[in-house]
Amino acid sequence: MAEIYDPQALRRELHEMPELALHEEKTAAYVAEKLEALGIETHRNVGGTTGVLGIIRGKEPGPVMMLRADMDALPFVIDGKPCCIHACGHDGHTAMLLAAASRLKDNVRRGTLKLLFQPAEETIEGAPEMIRAGVIDDVDMILGAHIRPIQDVPAGKLCPAVRHTASATVFVEIEGRGAHASRPHLGINAIDVSCAVIEGVQAIWLDPKMSWSSKATQIHADAGATNTVPDKARITFDVRAQTNDLMDALLKRMEEVVNGTAAAFGAKGKLIRNSLCPACWYDDDFTAEVADAIRETAGEENLAHDCGGGGEDFHFYKLHRPEMKAAYFGVGVGATPGLHAATMHFDDSLLKLGVNVFENMVLRHLG
Ligand SMILES: [Zn+2]
Ligand SMILES: [Zn+2]
Repeated sequence: MAEIYDPQALRRELHEMPELALHEEKTAAYVAEKLEALGIETHRNVGGTTGVLGIIRGKEPGPVMMLRADMDALPFVIDGKPCCIHACGHDGHTAMLLAAASRLKDNVRRGTLKLLFQPAEETIEGAPEMIRAGVIDDVDMILGAHIRPIQDVPAGKLCPAVRHTASATVFVEIEGRGAHASRPHLGINAIDVSCAVIEGVQAIWLDPKMSWSSKATQIHADAGATNTVPDKARITFDVRAQTNDLMDALLKRMEEVVNGTAAAFGAKGKLIRNSLCPACWYDDDFTAEVADAIRETAGEENLAHDCGGGGEDFHFYKLHRPEMKAAYFGVGVGATPGLHAATMHFDDSLLKLGVNVFENMVLRHLG
């Protein structure tokens, strides 16, 4: 009998080796060694990245199920020094998946279980890299999880679905015409155009039954002198939408506002989509099974309501392979003061609740 891993002990070791996106070398080596110690088929450097894939094959034919964890930590500057901290709990996710692997390695009777340790979730680069590497091309079901802050799910409870929204970063470039500030009528002030663009974007209305937002988060315009009308400006917008369709509609309206407003001033406007993270897209029947798994392993009283907010690159998987069932649950571990806080801490003795759900879900389909 191979060792059964304790997720709390694993998490504490992983917590001491936080690494930034696509630089998870020590973490990946740790994961691979733990999988190999269990005798699990292990693939390192998935797609040329730090990704690690473990594969447990059943003796009988059956579906392919994937469990996915993320491995990266976040950058901070503390007392003037750059550093890296596991402030989003990905150390806990990696620990939960390794613990699940140790419990499941001899219990996959049919089909195939794939354990994906993905790099670079925070920069939304990891999932696209894993997709390019082809790791989900044969997957029928994918299941992920995230620890939840205390505001979302009470400690000791689990929610069957984390309803992430779509998020995008959009740059708007304005090109006006420079002039001496004493002769502003000869120029087109890129700051004036930018202000009008921001007001126009804020006046976009979509279906009020849905949630969405777009707000300017950065603006740069400076011709280098206090008495020169600037010819160029660049605005950054953070954009969120409840569904992928709503995000498409919002970006289309923003582009119309940018182009139309700039034209009204005689300037040029250009909208550049910098990055886009898709909204969650879950299968109701698969999510209902997760709810059952929570009831069975933690008790009805510990089944929490769905929570939402934030983004996850996990949702690229389902977009790439829509026929694959997807679900993603939340584990209430009392994380406080909130995710992405440098001082974020949580009760890692509760990680076993997530391991129980992973194990239950795998045994339903592959046991
Ligand atoms: Zn995060
Ligand atoms: Zn996270």
